[in-house]
Amino acid sequence: MKLKPWQWILLSLVLATLVGGLINIFGTTSRNPETVFTPGAETAVSLFDYVGTIFLNLLKMIIVPLVFTSIVVGIAGLGNTKGFGRLGLKTVIYYMCTSLIAILIGLSLVNWIKPGLDADGNPNQAIAQQIESNKEAYEKKIEDKVGGKESAQKTGLGPVADLFKRMVPTNVFEAFGANNKMLALIFVAILTAMALIFVGADARDNLLGFFRSLNELTLLITNWIMVLAPIGVFGLVAKAVSQAGFPVFLLLGKYFLVVLAALLIHLLVVMPLVLRFLAGVNPRHHFYAMRNALLTAFSTSSSSATLPVTMRGLSQNAGVSGRVTSFVLPLGATVNMDGTALYECVAVMFVAQVLGIQLDFGVQFTVVALALLTSIGVAGVPSASLVAILIIMTNIDIGIEQSGAVIGLLLTVDRLLDMSRTAVNIFSDSCGAMVIARSEGETEFYPERATLK
Ligand code: ASP
Repeated sequence: MKLKPWQWILLSLVLATLVGGLINIFGTTSRNPETVFTPGAETAVSLFDYVGTIFLNLLKMIIVPLVFTSIVVGIAGLGNTKGFGRLGLKTVIYYMCTSLIAILIGLSLVNWIKPGLDADGNPNQAIAQQIESNKEAYEKKIEDKVGGKESAQKTGLGPVADLFKRMVPTNVFEAFGANNKMLALIFVAILTAMALIFVGADARDNLLGFFRSLNELTLLITNWIMVLAPIGVFGLVAKAVSQAGFPVFLLLGKYFLVVLAALLIHLLVVMPLVLRFLAGVNPRHHFYAMRNALLTAFSTSSSSATLPVTMRGLSQNAGVSGRVTSFVLPLGATVNMDGTALYECVAVMFVAQVLGIQLDFGVQFTVVALALLTSIGVAGVPSASLVAILIIMTNIDIGIEQSGAVIGLLLTVDRLLDMSRTAVNIFSDSCGAMVIARSEGETEFYPERATLK
């Protein structure tokens, strides 16, 4: 039987879940509040981690040259800046609208099902007891996550307000440095592209030719990296599943269901409607075009690391122009996070329910607004939204002393939800690119369908 590349990835995902599940059951001596492995299982998990990390590093390694050259070629290649502002405006409107819809879906479900309350409408005692008996361990988890108690207490709206500041690096090479400098990278790339349009013909031709070749090269390397995807995905998923805190998982079953159901509604109802009515394309074709990106996002829990795969899928499989892909996707990977925004809102409501705090309409409105804002500032890396949740909590006057342990509990079982919301995040970016491409007059999509058997 000959499997297609994406089928290999799917197969390895299923195998990794099985292997990880077995290790979780038979290779652990404790699973709550920390997962403790037997020596044999420990070795296996470090091996999974080893393989998974190499794959992740390979993806991250290619982001900077890929994003930079794609943006420069995509914008400067056109030779003028006409319509660029319009493109930006449309992109931001799309990001805002879809994130808001996602948040409202989450808010409706969490208010309806109330996963933090028991049948009588009181805070769920089993969850409260679980938190009480492991309070310190959970609090420590969340403090470690935000870099100590002090900074956790200080988390105001800082990261959001910092957004524009982070965009302008003090040294141009900073933009090419760490992966989390995506906004700075985009800024420098756009600036370079603009300058290339206005600079003398000689410099333009030389540099543009160079960036074009470099872009081709990075795309080729991305293709090579994806050959390793089944192995990398196996390592990442097997490690995540073997570490999962299943007892807590069962305790939080209702909460999981609310988050997953809301994410699925967004992914399988809202996004297809957007594709059908705003982009005028067949949603099934789009899911198929983005198959590798969806699987990679699910396995890595990182929109940023998935970016090369998302870009490849959108340009090669969906046939969207470089101009739209290079602008909408890198920006979307950090700024547009529908799944994350939805999750933040559900998690905040859940924490309040568990603590027995009623949030009236006004406060819920604030939660929605903050979920929208903070999802923009959240980096595209695993479990990044936990920090945003803490920010929202402090802004609605529920400090870390009260909420820290509950958020720490969520952190112990965050991985599966993180995987799911990351897949939604990148899918929404890709749908946005379709809508914008269509509105910019592009019509020829999904070229691979012509060659599909
Ligand atoms: N892991 C998510 C992403 O990379 C962010 C988050 O929700 O934690 O898109």
